[in-house]
Amino acid sequence: MANLRFSAVQEAGSRQPQFPEFPSNKVSDYFGSTSFGVPQMQAMLAPEVYKEVKYCIDKGKKISPDAANAVAAAVKAWAIENGITHYTHWFQPLTGATAEKHDSFFDSISGIEKFKGSALVQQEPDASSFPSGGIRQTFEARGYTAWDPSSPMFKWGTTLCIPTIFVSYTGEALDVKAPLLKALEAVDKAATKVCKYFDRNISKVTASLGCEQEYFVIDKALFNARPDLVMSGRTVFGHAPARGQQLDDHYFGSIPRRVYAFMQEFEQECHKLGIPVTTRHNEVAPSQFEVAPLFEEVNVATDHNMLMMDVMRRVADRHELTVLFHEKPFAEINGTGKHNNWSLITNTGVNLFQPSSSARENLLFLTFFVNTIAAVHRYADILRASIASSGNDFRLGANEAPPAIISVFIGSQLTSVLDELESHGNVKIEKGDNMYMKLGIDKIPEIILDNTDRNRTSPFAFTGNKFEFRAVGGNANVGLPMTALNTIIAKQLNDFKEEVDALIAKGKEKRLAIIDVLRKLIKESKNVRFEGDNYSEDWVVEAEKRGLPNVKDTPEALDAFLTKKSIEVFSEYNVLSERELEARNEILWENYIMKVQIESRVMGDLALNHVIPTAVKYQMKLIDAAKGLKEIGVDNSSNVNVISKITEHIDGVKNGVLDMIEERKRVNKIEDSREKAIEYCHSIKHKYFDKIRYHVDKLELFVDDEDWPLVKYREMLFVH
Ligand code: ADP
Ligand code: MG
Repeated sequence: MANLRFSAVQEAGSRQPQFPEFPSNKVSDYFGSTSFGVPQMQAMLAPEVYKEVKYCIDKGKKISPDAANAVAAAVKAWAIENGITHYTHWFQPLTGATAEKHDSFFDSISGIEKFKGSALVQQEPDASSFPSGGIRQTFEARGYTAWDPSSPMFKWGTTLCIPTIFVSYTGEALDVKAPLLKALEAVDKAATKVCKYFDRNISKVTASLGCEQEYFVIDKALFNARPDLVMSGRTVFGHAPARGQQLDDHYFGSIPRRVYAFMQEFEQECHKLGIPVTTRHNEVAPSQFEVAPLFEEVNVATDHNMLMMDVMRRVADRHELTVLFHEKPFAEINGTGKHNNWSLITNTGVNLFQPSSSARENLLFLTFFVNTIAAVHRYADILRASIASSGNDFRLGANEAPPAIISVFIGSQLTSVLDELESHGNVKIEKGDNMYMKLGIDKIPEIILDNTDRNRTSPFAFTGNKFEFRAVGGNANVGLPMTALNTIIAKQLNDFKEEVDALIAKGKEKRLAIIDVLRKLIKESKNVRFEGDNYSEDWVVEAEKRGLPNVKDTPEALDAFLTKKSIEVFSEYNVLSERELEARNEILWENYIMKVQIESRVMGDLALNHVIPTAVKYQMKLIDAAKGLKEIGVDNSSNVNVISKITEHIDGVKNGVLDMIEERKRVNKIEDSREKAIEYCHSIKHKYFDKIRYHVDKLELFVDDEDWPLVKYREMLFVH
């Protein structure tokens, strides 16, 4: 193994950057060239067919069989022209990955390429092995995929991928996308209704998302020499390097050349697929980077994020690199998140979170702004559950990520605006736009001029014209948090509208009614607002006083999906029924168990087969040396001292692992998945992981570097 380590380090150090060729100097020449979406349909379909398809996409309506046939014919022609031989329905099962099943366009009976509208619209993949949380028994293995025309199709190798939802034949969602689409419809409807108070021309509100994706890149040989990384995506052992991120010199520093070449190539691939990646930079930790596309409609942005992660994995491989999306691949080094920048934008082009210089528009802004804070306050536990995963548990609450407490940061200016609005009692409207003067909050117009407030520690921060949900994990399918967020916002907006309407019905002037309800919401949700350092211990104490939930571990965090409040809100908009929520939790708990189980096994294997034998060998060397010293009459007490320390750590590792294995045997007998997940969390992970790791990492410091079998942190993080 030590040999493997050294040959891997050597291999990694000797590789050269592979800079890609570009099809053209201008991205615009090839942007979207391997994707088939609205622009391609417009170019290839007869105008009246295109009009129908576009209408259906915008309104979320069913496309007629005739139009579907026309689209199928167009996409087939486009596919064949582009060297595509197969097609697949591409879907996002609850495993967190994407799935596909390829069929050939070639029809051997007729001897020609065929593709009918019906094959485009619906398929029945033999996907019975995907988790369904008991909704779909394998014997009735009927689930089907249905085309989502709002997300572009794309070329992947020689296959046409068709974004689809995946549902059981009784209509229950088996994937991430189906509920997401329903949540987006709900928030559109609710937001549009509220917008009508201000502008009758608003007929649609689209939720937008821009994901800032963090990731690590390490050499492939080094990755392959770490069984823990290969098996679980994170290192279960490894002493922090002498040079960590203390110097902060990696942040915005120059990008290593091999990584730079990799970035150029994956960006190019993304551009061809129509994924608008724009920014790239180093992150705080060594070997950590970030990529962000321009924001898009949430559904498309979600598909694009999944696709981009796939592209990155594949391109990295060509560069003999491995990209890591796990939330915490390295202890004591920054974890990996995926900031979800989110806003609501009207069909008239207004970003509802954009403060403006006109008082009337600012009331619109304040309406959406305050309702968002209120929704986060009301449903903080659901948001927490939506980002829960075993990987993210390692990151939340560690030093560089927001804790499991959901709070909202809005900056000092907006804080004073809300405070002002809250404390003013008898509001009287004089004339139109002067209302804010009367409110004493004439400062509002300045908001856009100076919004430089930044609080990097907040899990949910307002950043000028959008909210940024930062607690999302790097490996997550953002469809889950986006489903939760957009559903709770829809609910909050609908409740808001009901209250305002009730006041109007009692004769209150519309704007006064709106202000009344906003003031109430500001008061009610005040506790969720926090401007301080979210990483501090004080905040944990303070949050508890305020009654904010702080659920640290995934198994318990998931309970929030099954409360009465949650079932009500998700079923009200048909996003997820009680049965679907239960099924999902089953899957998420099972998934959690599997992840912790794998880590625990990998830990045991590495400890017993690699670490202990190496440590014992080294211990023998020291014993020989100590004996030799004694023979020639030289003091050997320091050797003896080291030997006894090593013995202590070897015992620590061995006992820890053996006890953990016994505990696992006990826990594995538990049937109920929630209970089992909780046991895996507390009786295995929390009880043993750190303890075993402590001893292993100490041994790494003692044992001769020549003999140590596992690739070290400094090698993984600094060799590329
Ligand atoms: P930051 O200053 O936080 O790095 P950027 O302006 O670089 O912010 O944007 C980060 C991400 O937020 C990008 O993906 C960007 O497209 C997205 N973004 C910007 N404005 C919006 C918006 N109104 N709605 C959703 N996402 C947005
Ligand atoms: Mg940001």
